[in-house]
Amino acid sequence: MIARTRFAPSPTGRLHLGHALAAQLAHALARRLGGAFLLRHEDIDTTRVREEYYAAIEEDLRWLGFAWHGEALRQSTRLAAYAAALEKLRALGVVYPCYCTRRAIQHEVAAMLGAPQGPEGPLYPGTCRSLAAAARPRQPDSASTHAWRLDAHKAAALTGPLSFCDLRHGTLEVQPDLLGDVVLARKDIGTAYHLAVVVDDAYQEISHVTRGEDLLPATHVQRLLQALLGLPAPLYLHHPLLRDETGRRLAKRHDSLAIAALRHAGMSAAAVLAQLAASTPSSGGLVPAAADE
Ligand code: GLU
Ligand code: ZN
Repeated sequence: MIARTRFAPSPTGRLHLGHALAAQLAHALARRLGGAFLLRHEDIDTTRVREEYYAAIEEDLRWLGFAWHGEALRQSTRLAAYAAALEKLRALGVVYPCYCTRRAIQHEVAAMLGAPQGPEGPLYPGTCRSLAAAARPRQPDSASTHAWRLDAHKAAALTGPLSFCDLRHGTLEVQPDLLGDVVLARKDIGTAYHLAVVVDDAYQEISHVTRGEDLLPATHVQRLLQALLGLPAPLYLHHPLLRDETGRRLAKRHDSLAIAALRHAGMSAAAVLAQLAASTPSSGGLVPAAADE
């Protein structure tokens, strides 16, 4: 197997130190394994993407010394592949249309006793899961009238028990309902994060997915989707997130931590990378530097 890693930022802002760590780990792992480091712009959320950030991200990566293999993939060019994957899941009967607005879900959760909880707060309470076809709003069945949600229990019943391998955490059993019935296709854009990531990790033949520990819950859903879609399961490396001296997680959007801001302040790329190493004591041994570094 030829190792392939990826860095998958969203062009919704400039790269900051947290991104640099993710990119560095993916880049270093590819080097160590004699493989390729790929770049993917996760730009499906057209309400947040701004055109200037594609080039800005690439400029920052080059400055940091993380050259990527081939041309960067843009998810916005892959909508047909996501639609085909969704169709496959529909055929398996593991997705259902959801007509709820965000506000309706909030109201329902607030009114429920014992609303299901996930690692990041309340989960979708399943309102539309058992809506009989006849009870669904009579609207033309175009993507723009509703979202599509994964029926996590049905999906798990179909796949049976699953697990995935993480280089730090070992083998983890998939908890199919950890994030509940996630949205796989938003009504405005016809796809969503989990579906696009799974389809593209397979398309780009990614062997090792490196990303922050905040996305560990997402891996449970994504492993389930891989099994449903018949896609290979990559290995995972979920790395610790950057923290300040007091142990607090660094805010992602903190402008002073933007790579460009550090550069403009006169910091060298080597100094930025050294600061990364210093801010992640527990990840120091994750990916030893290549011998020639
Ligand atoms: N695009 C995601 C982010 O910026 C990362 C996706 C992934 O690594 O799976 O956080
Ligand atoms: Zn709903």
